[in-house]
Amino acid sequence: KEEYIRKPDWLKIKLNTNESYTGLKKMMREKKLHTVCEEARCPNIHECWAERKTATFMILGDVCTRACRFCAVKTGLPTELDLQEPERVAESVHLMGLKHAVITAVARDDLKDGGAEVFAETVRAIRRKSPFTTVEVLPSDMMGRYENLETLMDAKPDILNHNIETVRSLTPRVRARATYDRSLEFLARAKEMQPKIPTKSSIMIGLGETKEEIIETMDDLRAANVDIMTIGQYLQPTKKHLKIKKYWTPEEFNELKEIALSKGFKHCESGPLVRSSYHADEQVNAAQS
Ligand code: SF4
Ligand code: SF4
Repeated sequence: KEEYIRKPDWLKIKLNTNESYTGLKKMMREKKLHTVCEEARCPNIHECWAERKTATFMILGDVCTRACRFCAVKTGLPTELDLQEPERVAESVHLMGLKHAVITAVARDDLKDGGAEVFAETVRAIRRKSPFTTVEVLPSDMMGRYENLETLMDAKPDILNHNIETVRSLTPRVRARATYDRSLEFLARAKEMQPKIPTKSSIMIGLGETKEEIIETMDDLRAANVDIMTIGQYLQPTKKHLKIKKYWTPEEFNELKEIALSKGFKHCESGPLVRSSYHADEQVNAAQS
């Protein structure tokens, strides 16, 4: 029988919710929008929504065609494509007064364009309503169909983020359909298409990887010209998901950040509670300077 490792103190935090949070949650339901912040029960929600004015929207529905073993999003065959969604997202970004909006999506492998057109239209709709809000996009690998990536890059997001998620050796166990090399190529191509747009990638650690493997992933991302890296602790969403093999300590996270910066990343967020979109508002400026 496998044993669960006890959660260390630095991860025991209370979900801080207040009235403004309840109001925003209500607005999301009324507009039929999904946020990663809520669905992943992200511990940073108060800091992000209320203080930093950042949120991560999940567009193209809440049913994913893939089933990654770390992810709590429902798997299935999506039935709809909501063409009004970009306007509703833009409206919410405006009402929330967001400084930085992250737009991610379930993987729509059922659609020929992978949802790229709706994705791009969401960026444009936010620009029209909130010209000072920076927009970060976080797509899947779109099955390596680079014409779809081009559609998205043509909308000129402020950051193109695509998560490599884990080290090379663990990729087949952790991610569904995605491959390590395709993610690297996706990031490298995005940079070739729009060299001025910063690119970013994230990994979760605690799935059994070694420090050497993490460093190798840093080197691979730098070889693909990635500008920003984030590193966070993997937390198991339910008992059915992959087990945590190790809790990396805050000191180890700091050391990884130093290593990442020495490799040439312009910005690195690294810490137990760091999520792909954590402190994303700071990264836009750092990567452009
Ligand atoms: Fe949302 Fe990301 Fe902030 Fe978590 S870290 S609350 S997912 S924006
Ligand atoms: Fe979750 Fe993304 Fe994997 Fe879908 S592709 S299961 S949303 S991580």
